Amino acid sequence: MHRTHTCGELTISDLGKAVILSGWVQKSRDLGGMTFIDVRDRYGVTQLTFDSADDETLRSKAKELGREYVIKVRGMVIERESKNPKISTGEIEIKVTDLEILNPSALPPFTIADDTDGGEDLRMKYRYLDLRRNPIRNNLILRHKLAQETRKYLDGQHFLEIETPVLIKSTPEGARDFVVPSRMNPGEFYALPQSPQTFKQLLMVSGFDRYFQIVKCFRDEDLRADRQPEFTQIDCEMAFVEQEDILNLFEGLMKHLFKAIKDVDLGEVPRMPYTEAIRLYGSDKPDIRFGMQFIELNNLLQGVGFPVFDNAELIVGIKAEGCASYTRKQLDALTDFVKRPQIGASGLVYLRCNEDGTLKSSVDKFYSPEQLELWAQAFNAKRGDLLLVMAGEADKVRKQLSELRLEVASQLGLRDKNIFAPLWVMDFPLLEWDNESGRYHAMHHPFTSPKTEDIPLLSSNPGKVRANAYDLVINGTEIGGGSIRIHDRELQSLMFKHLGFSLEEAQKQFGFLLEAFTYGAPPHGGIAFGFDRLVAIFAGLDSIRDVIAFPKNNSGRDVMIDSPSPIAVEQLVELGIKTS
Ligand code: ASP
Repeated sequence: MHRTHTCGELTISDLGKAVILSGWVQKSRDLGGMTFIDVRDRYGVTQLTFDSADDETLRSKAKELGREYVIKVRGMVIERESKNPKISTGEIEIKVTDLEILNPSALPPFTIADDTDGGEDLRMKYRYLDLRRNPIRNNLILRHKLAQETRKYLDGQHFLEIETPVLIKSTPEGARDFVVPSRMNPGEFYALPQSPQTFKQLLMVSGFDRYFQIVKCFRDEDLRADRQPEFTQIDCEMAFVEQEDILNLFEGLMKHLFKAIKDVDLGEVPRMPYTEAIRLYGSDKPDIRFGMQFIELNNLLQGVGFPVFDNAELIVGIKAEGCASYTRKQLDALTDFVKRPQIGASGLVYLRCNEDGTLKSSVDKFYSPEQLELWAQAFNAKRGDLLLVMAGEADKVRKQLSELRLEVASQLGLRDKNIFAPLWVMDFPLLEWDNESGRYHAMHHPFTSPKTEDIPLLSSNPGKVRANAYDLVINGTEIGGGSIRIHDRELQSLMFKHLGFSLEEAQKQFGFLLEAFTYGAPPHGGIAFGFDRLVAIFAGLDSIRDVIAFPKNNSGRDVMIDSPSPIAVEQLVELGIKTS
């Protein structure tokens, strides 16, 4: 027998019990007469003691133990003299009678502790050791719980978990595909799914009615800070539903998860049209944990001879409450922030509403005190507030101000990780102009249905057509997105046409779907949640990397198994990729 209990289990109520524990040596302290060893497993840490009254071989074996040795001990639970209230086993220790080394360990390349000395690269290379650390292990436990609670909720709502294939077909829409050569069909390739989108729609045609899957998806995108080439979605689809049904059901999922895992009552999730989100926050995923809404100032500030404002398509600003006391240096730092190449603004104008009632702006020479007063009033500013204003091309300046808004809020401590502010962003545009290819792309995907009343605009003003599409945003992060789908063959063909597919191309890429729609496709719609991001939000982490057991690094590499890697010429030949 390897153990009677785990290392996180024994308490004062177990005093006097004879027990067997197995685990890893966390640390050992030799205090001359006494030796203390902390033994660790997934469940916790228990202190083992040896003293001078013990048999000499037992004592010297205990002294031999190095960090991360795997051991098994027999002993008796006794009360600890100096108790440790921080851990569940902190009131007891084990007086060891028998010690067996199950496996020694090489010296680990970094300390296996909550605050490790290991850098990111080292931790990734030895990820299996990193996973022994509490913070990472706890993230995976959280991930497991979220998956289980998701299944519980969706099962309760009559969803069926159905697997869809991983080897599918490459399509030109969306991100780049990862492809897999087919040995048996030389010169031909499978693609890994970017999402199970078409399959889940086919399952609706098949009558499954409510489908979900916690599923790996693959996108060969340029890697940004928080992207992984493979990631996990909670993918869902429902038939005979309208947008309202979907929003309610998945709002229910979020409420369930927050209650079950965090004991947080989420309340009703507010909704905001896309255009409103852009106008008020300059972003389709606004962080609404705090206000700081945009105020547009063209009417007020144009036409008095300040060229930067006079020539701007949009003048827009935010109010930083209580920041009038910002020093010159702090204001310069904010200006530098918006001028960074990643943000690319040309400058930042401010108006200080001083505590003594005076107003002081960086463009005083163009504006009279009365005009400054009106400017402050537009923001409903109080004494002590600071107004930050930017000007330029509308789309760009909104994005730039949105970044500034988040930065200022972070500085003011308004982005508390323990507060959760979800938001449905609704009525996304159906299409989005792509300068590079000179044509419209589907903003969500080509199967998303336009709003019926906007269909006539498809030919006259495609950019204005709104979709029955929605995103769930939490604390400024897009957590999920979905849409009501087109289930009518004619409308789907029309969409492909507007997306620049020829009839043949559409037929070749999506003929199976168009055909399926001729066999009684029910009205349907769905949503997919980014599971890694959801776990990160629950864990209070900015990065998804530490909620994934074996993640890839910023260059898309797994440095532990050293992948991707070249393959042998024979393999290339066998796959028909090389001739000899
Ligand atoms: N398949 C979509 C995505 O991956 C989500 C959906 O429309 O259900 O973004």
